[in-house]
Amino acid sequence: MSGDYLDIHYARTRTPDAPRRRLEGHHKTQVCIIGGGLAGLTTALGLAERGVTDVILLEAERVGWGASGRNGGFVSPHYAAGTDNLIAKVGLDHTRDLIKLSRQAVDLVKERIGRYAIDCGPNPEGNLEASWFNDPDGLKRAIEFEAEEFGEHMDFIPRERLRDEYVASDMYFDGAMHHGCFWFHPLNYCLGIARKAEGVGVRIYEDSVALSLVSEDGSGTVTTDRGMVEADEIVVTTGAYDQTLVPELGGAFQPVATYIIVTEPVDEALISSTIKCHQAVADDRFSLDYYRRLEDNRILWGGRGSTRTTEPYNLRALMQGDMLKVYPELAEVGVDMAWGGLMSYAVHHMIQTGRLRQGLWYAQGFGGQGMAQTTVAGEALAGAIAGGDDTIDLFAPFGLPWAGGPIGKAYGEIFRVFVRTRDRIATARDRRIAKARP
Ligand SMILES: Cc1cc2nc3c(=O)[nH]c(=O)nc-3n(C[C@H](O)[C@H](O)[C@H](O)COP(=O)(O)OP(=O)(O)OC[C@H]3O[C@@H](n4cnc5c(N)ncnc54)[C@H](O)[C@@H]3O)c2cc1C
Repeated sequence: MSGDYLDIHYARTRTPDAPRRRLEGHHKTQVCIIGGGLAGLTTALGLAERGVTDVILLEAERVGWGASGRNGGFVSPHYAAGTDNLIAKVGLDHTRDLIKLSRQAVDLVKERIGRYAIDCGPNPEGNLEASWFNDPDGLKRAIEFEAEEFGEHMDFIPRERLRDEYVASDMYFDGAMHHGCFWFHPLNYCLGIARKAEGVGVRIYEDSVALSLVSEDGSGTVTTDRGMVEADEIVVTTGAYDQTLVPELGGAFQPVATYIIVTEPVDEALISSTIKCHQAVADDRFSLDYYRRLEDNRILWGGRGSTRTTEPYNLRALMQGDMLKVYPELAEVGVDMAWGGLMSYAVHHMIQTGRLRQGLWYAQGFGGQGMAQTTVAGEALAGAIAGGDDTIDLFAPFGLPWAGGPIGKAYGEIFRVFVRTRDRIATARDRRIAKARP
C-alpha cells in the first residue's frame, strides 16, 4: 500500500485534491465505513443526506483508488447478473423492483453531478451496444422486452446506420442505443462525492488500512496501525481488495481483473472515420470490449476479464490487439497507458448488500456494473441504518454463498474460456453466412 493513486489517465486529469490525513488515536462514532470506493462514499453521503453525519470513513489508499476510480466510467442501469438470471431467481415482479432501483440510481448519479457541481464531464447521453452477432430480430425482441417490462428506452440501429453514424467497423452487425445512460470521469465523481460528504461532517481518513474488526451486537471496533474507531454500526465496502477482514464476506466473492488502455491522441480525420460517436460503446459478447473517445481524441479501450489477477506482462499488446481487431485502421496509434483493476463477483453475479449481524453491514459483488449500482447499495444501506427504509431486504434472496475459494477461481477461468469460445464460434459463423449472402 503506497497511499497514492496509480499513474493513470484519471489520476493525471483529476480535479485538485490534497491527500487526507491518516487515522490516529482513539475515536468514537455512530457509523464507521471501511473502504473509500463508490460503495463506501455513496453510503456516507446517503447517511449525511438523511441527517446521520457522525460518520468516519477509512480508506486504505486514497479515495477512489480501487475499481471506482479507474474504470470505464459507463453509468447504466441493471446488474451484472443479467435480467434472465434475476427473473429465474426471484421472479418478474421482484426483478422489476430491483431494476427500478438501478434506473433511479442512474438518475440520482446524474442529479448529484448537477446538484453538487461535480466536474466529471462531459456526460454525453446514451450508451451504444454494438452487436457482434447477426441477429437483428433477437435484438429487436430484447429491446421490446426491456421497454414493456422495465420501461427502458432503447432504439434499434440497423447495420448501415451504425456504420455511417456511430462506429465504422466490419466486426459489428446491428446496434442498440440505451437512452438515459451516460459516462463520466469516475475518479472525479468519487472525489466530488467525498468532498460533499466531508462538507456536511463526514470524516474521511486516507492511508488508513482497517487491519482488524471486532463486532458484537450493537457495537464494534476497527483497528488501523495507528488508530482505533469504536462505532455503533460498521459498514464494510472494501470491494475486491480485501478478503480477510471479515471472512464471511471475503469468501463470498471472487476477485476478477479487467483492463484498460488509453491511446495517444488520434488524428481528427482518423477518429472521425472510425469511432464517430461520443457515446460510450460496448459490444454484446460475454467478454466484451468497452470504449469511448476522450476529450483530446484519445481512445479509452477496456476489456478482458480473468480470475487470474496478476497483470499480463504483455498487457498493452494484448489490449491493442483487441482494439485493432475492431479497428485495423488504428494500427499506427500508440498506447500511452495501461492498467488493471479488480472487481468482486459473487457466484450469482448479483450485488451483495445487507446486515451480517447486529451493527455490521456490507456491500460488495458489483462486478463490472458498479457505477450506478454502488448508489443502489449506498442508498439502501443509508436508508436501513438511518432507519425506516427496508429497501435493503430486496437483496436478501442473494445472500453470501461461498464463492469456492481456489476451486471457484479455477472454475471461473474455465467458464470464461468456455463462453469466449462459444462467442467466437457464433461470431465466426455469423460472419461466414453474411459474406456468403449476395
Ligand atoms: C477496469 C475496470 C473497468 C470497469 N468499468 C466499469 C464501467 O464502465 N461501468 C461500471 O458500472 N462499472 C465498471 N467497473 C466496475 C466498478 O468499477 C466496480 O463495480 C465498483 O467500482 C466497485 O466499487 P466498490 O466501492 O465496491 O469497490 P472499490 O472501488 O474497489 O473500493 C474499495 C476500496 O476499499 C479500499 N480498501 C480495501 N481494503 C481496505 C481495508 N482493509 N481498509 C480500508 N480500506 C480498504 C480499497 O483501497 C478501495 O479503495 C469496472 C471495473 C474495473 C476494474
